Amino acid sequence: MAQDPAPLFPLFADLRGRRVLVVGGGAVARRKLEPLLAAGAQVVVGAPWLEPAVMELFVEGRIGHLAGRFEPAWLDGAWLVVAATDDGDVNREVAAAAEARRIWANVVDDLALSSYQSPARIERGPLQIAISSGGGAPMLARHLREKLETELDESLADLASLLLRERGRIRARHPRLAERRRFFETLLAGPVAERFRARDAEGALRAFNAALGEAPPSRDIGSVALVGAGPGDPGLLTLRALRLLNQADVILHDRLVSPGVLALARRDADFIEVGKQAANHHVSQDGIHALMLEHARAGRRVVRLKGGDPFVFGRGGEELEFLHAHGVAFEVVPGITAALACAAYAGVPLTHRDHAQSVRLLTAHCKDSLDTLDWRALAQEKQTLAVYMGVAGLAGFRDRLLAHGRDAGTPFALVENGSRPEQRVVTGTLAELPTLAAQHAVQSPALLILGEVAALATPLHWFGAAPLGASAEVIAHAA
Ligand code: SAH
Repeated sequence: MAQDPAPLFPLFADLRGRRVLVVGGGAVARRKLEPLLAAGAQVVVGAPWLEPAVMELFVEGRIGHLAGRFEPAWLDGAWLVVAATDDGDVNREVAAAAEARRIWANVVDDLALSSYQSPARIERGPLQIAISSGGGAPMLARHLREKLETELDESLADLASLLLRERGRIRARHPRLAERRRFFETLLAGPVAERFRARDAEGALRAFNAALGEAPPSRDIGSVALVGAGPGDPGLLTLRALRLLNQADVILHDRLVSPGVLALARRDADFIEVGKQAANHHVSQDGIHALMLEHARAGRRVVRLKGGDPFVFGRGGEELEFLHAHGVAFEVVPGITAALACAAYAGVPLTHRDHAQSVRLLTAHCKDSLDTLDWRALAQEKQTLAVYMGVAGLAGFRDRLLAHGRDAGTPFALVENGSRPEQRVVTGTLAELPTLAAQHAVQSPALLILGEVAALATPLHWFGAAPLGASAEVIAHAA
């Protein structure tokens, strides 16, 4: 037979209450059972023996069992058959008998014998995406599946269920196809989907009724997602952050957000940098608030993208209070904060049990913040300090800790550009901290880790260059 290049015909079959025969009772067969049962099929397994998990399904009454070697009469009444035995002869017999009776047959991992194939699937409730490579490259189909899996929010399942339930009302309200299409488009982009993402089913239903025009429109049209962009490495974004970036109309981002992260966002979104530089605040906090409000009220999907985590020294709290006060709906997506990222990428286990029982996140960006810290508490042993700070304040920081009794030999690791390709780590002891930072010209952004655990950066470093230590000159200076 000549190879026919015709593509397979995709089909979603209603198997509820329909008999499906699975030949084989081992692990391969077992994997085929779950999706068939989930689709409501009446599954019968034919095999001389059943492996324990399959036996359990039989004992629970969820599947039938035909004992013995395959015979064509097993196919009586079946709509589909799966041959999943490790015996090539049996598989061939199943395929031939099924063909003769015009029953669709899948022989696991045998393209030539199969009259249908199971695709790679992504499921979001009633919404399903099936991918086929025609059987030629299942790995390719699986790869695409994984990619799509990361991009499609789980809450699409709720949205799809709602649309299935309400299709009668939608049709009655919008009898014309063009109108219905427009309606669906606004649903996907608007507050209904947004409320489902926030796991607010009631709010979603309200928004849906409003969209159908059967309830007064809610005032909160636009919404803002406050999203943590992590420390720089795009691989440290969360899936939810990635999905929101893909859907955003407007992205208000800090200067700290790395280009690699921005490159993952929707291309035709408006990117607005609202970063604040230490001295030169080029968009004030009030300016940021005003921008969020303006774009949300215009019905745009706004992502407020912040370095690290939005709630850790990021003024995310103030931004949410502002949105709350103005009745704008919001959601928050955590990000990997600099302390966790820098520790991981510098090989510093923050609470290694031999050295520390607690870790403190603190900020010491300016002289005022230095003066208000509780130095006695900070100087205590057996704790790790993770300090978000400008490099300028290091000498004052050291002096106060020493004055309150922290050991001058306490190790530190200063991580510049943590998780980014240009990451540098400087290590030494508390006494030498400002000198070493100056000698290596450490720049912002940098995070200071102070405590016994910091010494582990030397043996445990794995990312980028080895930690920089004291040069002969610094040691001489300290002596
Ligand atoms: N919300 C952010 C912190 C904002 S404050 C977070 O959760 O990470 C800014 C400070 O964070 C910088 O001065 C620096 O101390 C630290 N920081 C942020 N990203 C960093 C990075 N990639 N490497 C080192 N320090 C970083």
